[in-house]
Amino acid sequence: MAEETGSNEGTATEEQADFSRIEEEASDERIMFFETAPWDEAGLTAPECGLHSPEYRSTTKRLQNAPDDEVADLTVASVFIGSEVSAEQLDRMPNLKLVCTRSTGYDHIDLDACRERGIVACNVPAYAEHTVAEHTFGLMLALSRKILKAYDRTKRSDFSLEGLSGFDLKGKTLGVVGAGAIGLRVIRIGVAMGMKVLAFDVRPQGLLADVMQFEYASMDELLAQSDVVSLHVPLVPATRHMINREALAKMKKGALLINTARGELVDTDALLEALSSGHLGGAGLDVIEGEERIGDEAQMAGSDLPREDLAVAVQRYALLNRDDVVLTPHMAFYSREALHRLMEVTCENIHEFLLGEPKNTVT
Ligand code: NAD
Repeated sequence: MAEETGSNEGTATEEQADFSRIEEEASDERIMFFETAPWDEAGLTAPECGLHSPEYRSTTKRLQNAPDDEVADLTVASVFIGSEVSAEQLDRMPNLKLVCTRSTGYDHIDLDACRERGIVACNVPAYAEHTVAEHTFGLMLALSRKILKAYDRTKRSDFSLEGLSGFDLKGKTLGVVGAGAIGLRVIRIGVAMGMKVLAFDVRPQGLLADVMQFEYASMDELLAQSDVVSLHVPLVPATRHMINREALAKMKKGALLINTARGELVDTDALLEALSSGHLGGAGLDVIEGEERIGDEAQMAGSDLPREDLAVAVQRYALLNRDDVVLTPHMAFYSREALHRLMEVTCENIHEFLLGEPKNTVT
């Protein structure tokens, strides 16, 4: 937004006029940003954000942890993935008009409950497709070339090669589940690396497959033929636990599973079994089931975790203790460029909504 206005005076004037309109129309708005981190704060105070006059507040709290009196008068709530935007939470905000998530995935928002209350929900589509795709390959290469094992060794001044031989991605088959914005970037990188790429998607685009040199396949064919399976579908009822015992059994022996989409796509108990039996060759996970329930060890220490949270903590511990698993803390989106785009689009989503032209709506 800033670069565009800087390079075109006419556009800058129009945008200023837009901001004045927003300021006028938004004078009664009560906008709150939940789960803010330092990068959000920086984005919010940037001039191009334009949220100066409307009263906005930011908080590090998740929506469900904010007291009633803090949220009662909100008209716009901007949330991140740890906030549960349920019917119960919406009922605490009778004036709410817009829920704006600072993420692509919106499985933490009860869309039916929003629709019933006339609340618009919007997301940030495709802000990090390159970013997540690059991280996907980071996880894949960490496993295929045993980079973390090698790193641990060299840190101990052990430069031996024994047990570190990996395998080339070139010539292997990559199965991409969900060929949307991120999946297509993953496909492009895979093809560039000389991989044969199969994709499964409920909405196949045949022309794209021809142009980008990949093939669509059924989920069963993809599982049976892929040396690496990478997940890029949203979390919806149809995709929850799509990688369960049956799906894992259909995978090639020794194949790798990469998940940078949502933890709940994979049944973690089944994954641990498949790894322990040696059927699965490794897993690269940026997300795990129930991750939002538990924090780090310091946060867990001394707190009485409910049974379900304890189960998640035990699963995470079991994954962490395997050298065929690489786990990152839901950070596939976390690059400077993606964070900038994320806040830019979020501010635009709010502006456009206040101007009566909602965009990126998911309701
Ligand atoms: P997208 O909507 O562009 O693509 C999703 C694709 O999945 C679409 O092509 C859609 O047709 C397909 N799909 C939907 N349901 C399906 C099903 N049941 N079976 C097969 N295919 C199905 O989304 P995207 O931008 O590519 O993002 C994908 C997911 O990645 C998001 O929903 C989000 O959960 C996750 N994500 C994670 C991070 C991270 O930091 N780890 C960052 C951004 C997005």
